[in-house]
Amino acid sequence: MRPVLIRGLTAAAAVSLVSGLGVFAATSASAAAGCRVDYTANSWSNGFTGSVSVTNLGDPISGGWRLTWAFPGNQQVTQGWSATITQSGQNVTAASPSWAGSLPTNGNATFGFNASYSGTNTAPATFSLNGTACTGATGPSTPPTTPPTTPPTTPPTTPPTTPPPTGSKVDNPYAGARGYVNPEWKAKAEAEPGGNRVSSNPTAVWLDRIAAIEGTDDSSSNGSMGVRDHLDAALAQNAGYIQFVIYNLPGRDCSALASNGELGPDELPRYKAEYIDPIAAIQSDPKYAALRIINIIEIDSLPNLVTNTSGQAGGTATCDTMKANGGYVQGVGYALNKLGALSNGYNYVDAAHHGWIGWDSNMGPSADIMLEAARASGSVNNVHGFITNTANYSALREPFVQPTTTVGGQSVRQSKWIDWNQYTDELTFAQAFRQKLVSIGFNANIGMLIDTSRNGWGGSARPTAASTSTVIDTFVNESRIDRRIHAGNWCNQSGAGLGERPTAAPASGIDAYVWVKPPGESDGSSKLIPNDEGKGFDRMCDPTYTGNARNGNSLSGALPDAPISGAWFSAQFRQLMANAYPPLS
Ligand code: BGC
Repeated sequence: MRPVLIRGLTAAAAVSLVSGLGVFAATSASAAAGCRVDYTANSWSNGFTGSVSVTNLGDPISGGWRLTWAFPGNQQVTQGWSATITQSGQNVTAASPSWAGSLPTNGNATFGFNASYSGTNTAPATFSLNGTACTGATGPSTPPTTPPTTPPTTPPTTPPTTPPPTGSKVDNPYAGARGYVNPEWKAKAEAEPGGNRVSSNPTAVWLDRIAAIEGTDDSSSNGSMGVRDHLDAALAQNAGYIQFVIYNLPGRDCSALASNGELGPDELPRYKAEYIDPIAAIQSDPKYAALRIINIIEIDSLPNLVTNTSGQAGGTATCDTMKANGGYVQGVGYALNKLGALSNGYNYVDAAHHGWIGWDSNMGPSADIMLEAARASGSVNNVHGFITNTANYSALREPFVQPTTTVGGQSVRQSKWIDWNQYTDELTFAQAFRQKLVSIGFNANIGMLIDTSRNGWGGSARPTAASTSTVIDTFVNESRIDRRIHAGNWCNQSGAGLGERPTAAPASGIDAYVWVKPPGESDGSSKLIPNDEGKGFDRMCDPTYTGNARNGNSLSGALPDAPISGAWFSAQFRQLMANAYPPLS
């Protein structure tokens, strides 16, 4: 998918293209003002996903809003979300959902849709909110009785930056906002041949040890800028949002070795006082109030307490300890509480991926433990959403292998690859898990993120059609987009490519596709490499390892010669670019 250029605005229109986002702040002489629309179209050959964010700049609206526009071409909406979308000819109306009919002054609503088109996908020239053209500026709610004697001054050619209203969180912090580009990652990407094709994408900043808060002198693995340095750089970039990964729980990565951390299983007090508190103190500096600060909370932690404790295949003693001592649940709860208190802070809790908790027997208990952690924070309101597939490789969509697919009358779910999982891809899993979380007590407007940094699986090995085999395992293995040897493999996967570029509101229930794992950073070393970060050697990163119960006793599928987790792995980055899907131009 790639964004279309937004054209077709009047001469008076002020347009910016920011990371593929078009900001409509058009001003015309005759229209009354009162709203602002950000419109994004991510197109493929004959279809696109539209994302719309409307901000009411006029008087408060209650009892329902309607946003109308006309498509210049033959675009036809096929599906909408977070608004009721109807189309008559070229005219489209998006009506507010029954549960969200109010838009206060400066209030914002976002919605999205899928549409078909052919030819050129030209963006609509104007939008109207309840009949008032969205000019991007406030104005009188009734027209003046005497016409102005001087023509209005020409509007600026770049739109003003609009900080989010302080004290109120927007529904989707990614919508209509430019993401912070980590200059340290950008420099590493650009040092690789062709890296400048992707180096301007926003990636997350991992705070993977206490020293990362202030920044370090050693850039052996994660770079040297501290939290303040990144926030200042984000302001300098005029970014709308910045993404941090909170990743330093006591007894971290209890089921594996490659990302063990610096805090021992009993060091919850240090986690709170020396890690979360200082991060919250810096992030709450009013200087950063206009930035949307997104915190991704503790990768791979809570689901480990569900699936990797004793009595289960591959259960570990450290996971038992972390379950018994409450270090993960209390640690996540503390992080949610402190970081959720920020008026501009957005917490997304890590929710593993379909190949881990897609089975109903894992999904329900995982959701329950997430609710326990949210309640430990004091309120489910501290959770803005969840993220799936962080640093993993699960394909976004499996068009040829769905759970309902049958071959010769048999369900593909009985194949070795799927192994009775209820899901085969991340998008359907993330959408279903969202529903599950809402059903047990999370807020109805939580949104999901999907890490698409390395789940592209392009290149010549990518299937373009379903297999014609009638043998179930052969059918699945020849048809699936995900080319791993086993869906439980997770380290530096051979054959993987960059996935969808970061995109806001790409599908129903999904706040964004994001690049949380910075492409090119290793998942773990292929052999033991001594280090002072607590990182061990996990044989899942060794290409000669023949596996264990958790990956069906399969080869690890890992690339050889990898450095420790977080360190730059040039060969992997080059492979990810070569196998990108959508491909790089
Ligand atoms: C590592 C972290 C690193 C992160 C992002 C994790 O696997 O343990 O040190 O910051 O990956 O690359």
